[in-house]
Amino acid sequence: MAASGKLSTFRLPPLPSIREIIKLFRLQALKQLSQNFLLDLRLTDKIVKKAGNLTNAYVYEVGPGPGGITRSILNAGVAELLVVEKDSRFIPGLQMLSDAAPGKLRIVHGDVLTFKIEKAFPVSLRRQWEDDPPDVRIIGNLPFSVSTPLIVQWLENVSQRNGPFTYGRTPMTLTFQKEVAERLTASTGSKQRSRLSIMAQYLCHVEHILTIPGRAFIPKPEVDVGLVHFVPLTEPRIQQPFPLVEKVVQRAFQFRRKYCYRGLGMLFPEAQRLDSTRALLQRAEVDPKLRPGQLSIPHFRSLCDVYRDMCDQDPQLFGYNFREELKQKKSQKQAREDEGGQQDGDHL
Ligand code: SAM
Repeated sequence: MAASGKLSTFRLPPLPSIREIIKLFRLQALKQLSQNFLLDLRLTDKIVKKAGNLTNAYVYEVGPGPGGITRSILNAGVAELLVVEKDSRFIPGLQMLSDAAPGKLRIVHGDVLTFKIEKAFPVSLRRQWEDDPPDVRIIGNLPFSVSTPLIVQWLENVSQRNGPFTYGRTPMTLTFQKEVAERLTASTGSKQRSRLSIMAQYLCHVEHILTIPGRAFIPKPEVDVGLVHFVPLTEPRIQQPFPLVEKVVQRAFQFRRKYCYRGLGMLFPEAQRLDSTRALLQRAEVDPKLRPGQLSIPHFRSLCDVYRDMCDQDPQLFGYNFREELKQKKSQKQAREDEGGQQDGDHL
């Protein structure tokens, strides 16, 4: 890696403001793409500061748009910044930043949902999983419709230690709709406790580090925004494959307001539902009358461990989907009714 002293003192030269860039390149936000921009560089500096020390880091920024956060990252003494932006209108403005920061900013016109960051930075950055996080960071303010599926995809990558986590325990600092940020960080028993809370917290240390009022964005979104910092844990708090954990958690929260045994019962075919649900809860030592939001991560750990054991005993079980069983039943019922109608017709 390059010597730190010179790099960390880098500052961008005077540039047109983000507002001027938007005018210059006619970058009106496209509402249908949920584009909301941050123009205040004091705020983008604050966001970047919250992401931690970036001196000599290799940073991956998702959805840079007109480049407010991008400028703050470049001013934080990074070794390299790679940005991936889907909307080609932003590329010339970003190119201007790249010219102002020679050799530091790499621009990719692409989609963050498919971009392979694991191939983009030097292999020498890779760390052992148990080591301190690598000198790689992910930062971004994406549309909410992209950030939520993306974090689920990245959590699965954390569990498999691939994708951005090929480098090790890469920290991420990302914006979400404030309500989603609250769900990601919600503790056991709180109102916002949800599937996302469990999926994020069994794999990462998750912190809601800043709330940004909607009025800070142009145009102003309907909601406030939460900045969330994730650092993958050295050991996941549930040691089962991601799809299995996802299934147990999804079923547990199926009926949010009911006792947890109702949703968890949906893991099992109707014919065995009562007995299997009882066995699952007994063996996992979970009170069936807890509400889904009252289940802690250790509760989910035992539920997943016992469910895994049940799946090993019955190889058909994991493939069971209650929705398909319901659909089948409905179509059988419909067929019976049609047949009955047909016979009634025959009688007439
Ligand atoms: N980060 C900028 C800021 O804070 O001002 C822009 C924020 S705007 C909410 C989101 C940006 O992400 C837009 O520039 C949009 O074009 C880009 N974007 C949306 N979906 C994307 C995707 N799948 N891949 C890459 N960029 C995307």
